[in-house]
Amino acid sequence: TGRVEHYLSHQVATRPNALAFEDNTGVRVSYLELDVSANEIGARLTDLGVAPGDRVLMLAENCVAAVALLFGAWKIGATVVPFNARQTAGEVQKIIDHAEPRVLVCTSAASPDAASHGARFGAIEAAGRFGTLAFAALDGGMPEVETDVAILLYTTGTTGTPKGVMLTHENVRFGGLTSANLRRMTPDDVIYGVLPLTHVFGMCSVMAAAVYTGAPVRLAARFDVAATYEALRSGVTLCSAVPQMHALLMAYTKKMGYARLDSPTLRYVSSGAAPLDPAWKRQAEAFYGVALQNGYGMTETSAGTAATSNVIGDPDISVGPALPGVEVALDMDAPGSGDGVGEVITRGPQIMKGYYKNPEETARVLSADGWLHTGDLGRIDDKGHLHIVGRSKELIIHGGFNVYPPEVEAALNDHPQVIQAAVIGHKVGADEKVLAFCQVADDSDVTVEELRAFAAERLAGYKRPSQIILASSLPAAPTGKILKHKLLEAFADQIG
Ligand code: ATP
Ligand code: MG
Repeated sequence: TGRVEHYLSHQVATRPNALAFEDNTGVRVSYLELDVSANEIGARLTDLGVAPGDRVLMLAENCVAAVALLFGAWKIGATVVPFNARQTAGEVQKIIDHAEPRVLVCTSAASPDAASHGARFGAIEAAGRFGTLAFAALDGGMPEVETDVAILLYTTGTTGTPKGVMLTHENVRFGGLTSANLRRMTPDDVIYGVLPLTHVFGMCSVMAAAVYTGAPVRLAARFDVAATYEALRSGVTLCSAVPQMHALLMAYTKKMGYARLDSPTLRYVSSGAAPLDPAWKRQAEAFYGVALQNGYGMTETSAGTAATSNVIGDPDISVGPALPGVEVALDMDAPGSGDGVGEVITRGPQIMKGYYKNPEETARVLSADGWLHTGDLGRIDDKGHLHIVGRSKELIIHGGFNVYPPEVEAALNDHPQVIQAAVIGHKVGADEKVLAFCQVADDSDVTVEELRAFAAERLAGYKRPSQIILASSLPAAPTGKILKHKLLEAFADQIG
């Protein structure tokens, strides 16, 4: 069976000297240089005791060294545990306890946060054409992951503790080639790699898709609005991002006094990993001047499940039809179902092997015949396009009615001074209140009363927020996705 590193071998065989990856520390590598680097790193990991099936923890922000490490570890049959270096020491420790990696590797030169994690573990730096990495041996455990698992990837943790998802080489390969085909990628594309490689969207839809295609990637260590604005205007043809990144970029550009991005090369942009509001889609297409594609997936599905086509001005705000080779259906018996809405279930080559060291949860979401229960509620329209209405865990039952947070968020996001809104349920006695948090600019003069009136024009009575809290920032994952389960705690003193 195929392995992800075969994508690299193919590029080395056909286009060894083509630019593969570059990063914002100035490192650039061709496919051949990437391959040589991966071999060097693989040998170092072997020296540190890594055997096939062992886990290698990669604490990273995007850089060439991270990509070389992925391929180096895969070449020796190890499983990579990608984890964002911006996470705290406590969060890193939880991953170490759960994943039991043999070795920890930090992208120390490209990320101050990675460097400080490395320092805590006494990691030793090694440099090469790929840049710099810092290595530390850990206790590790007996291998529990079989060698067909390419990555052990933790979910975002939007709804609770992140789950360790085992994705096989076949999963990652499928995610990569599907994304590449969907975007009709060619080696002439230039991709802006701003999504973290430590998230499934960056790993499969950007990294694997690019190596499959042979398209160069300009890696950004982390999302920075000003840098993204510049990058997208200087030769980039494709960019995938989470909706929050698009929103922040639009807000930034507006503040600078420009209405549009005006890139001569951009072909199209895509959004995924979180709900995309209809208004954001319209605004973003006007802003970028190209189609905004909406893709739906999750860590458990190697990024892809369904996606819209890249047609500008398409009024369809669904997540489109199932990807080729993927089945999507609705479970109308699941909690939260009714009125044509059911739990989204999906089956195909993109489905994870299971949750690491959690057979109970794996059995709960993955049926014997291969269907994954996503925990998302959706409906399928007469064109066969899937619409995600919200997560079953986040469904708010207020006054006996179902309130889907994304619909309330979309109404608030429509306000020109709201950068992004996050809506959750808040249990008060037997009822659940609709609680809204709105991120606004520091110099914004919008009031809660104004937003309340704005929402009232757009939402039926039972959907209107019972409280709106204004904030200059919201708790977010390194991708920019909002960590909803942290909102109550973060704003505890303001919730009444
Ligand atoms: P956790 O499972 O730890 O709570 P998470 O589900 O946010 O976190 P991810 O795997 O990053 O972790 O995200 C997948 C989820 O993101 C999906 O289940 C869905 O709820 C949401 N999602 C992804 N893409 C879209 C989209 N295009 N539209 C709406 N929701 C989306
Ligand atoms: Mg999830």
